[in-house]
Amino acid sequence: MAPPVLVSACLRGVPCRFDGRDKAVRGVDEALAGREVVAFCPEQAGGLGTPRAAAELVGGDGYDVLDGRARVVDVNGVDVTEAFVAGARRALAAARRAGCAEAVLMPRSPSCGRGEVYDGEFRGVLVPGDGVTAALLERNGIAVRRAPGV
Ligand code: SF4
Repeated sequence: MAPPVLVSACLRGVPCRFDGRDKAVRGVDEALAGREVVAFCPEQAGGLGTPRAAAELVGGDGYDVLDGRARVVDVNGVDVTEAFVAGARRALAAARRAGCAEAVLMPRSPSCGRGEVYDGEFRGVLVPGDGVTAALLERNGIAVRRAPGV
């Protein structure tokens, strides 16, 4: 049987997004049918409340944040890097505990984004890169896939 898969909690109907909503989509449920799912929200796990101010990566992507070259800043200018990194570490711990070899994550998020993230200017422009949690999971051997159909 396939090992469990870590999934962004908002994709499973948990209203944990910054705007207090979820992002459940049929394509994700279909892609995960029959798999054991570990639903996890790194931003809540890092101590951020819901709803919360939107945040973006500034100065680089999630790998740069992990290496101290970039920060995560919310739309009010508050530096929330520490919470994002703490949440990413907790996501990795949860994935390891459950034996996940794979994660399916919410596109474009500064935590969960895979392949593209917003550019840090809060103007809706995407640039290549991974979110903080996606980067930490990948760096530790967990294959991160962008959720389909979102
Ligand atoms: Fe969804 Fe990830 Fe954002 Fe949590 S941190 S709301 S799981 S995209």
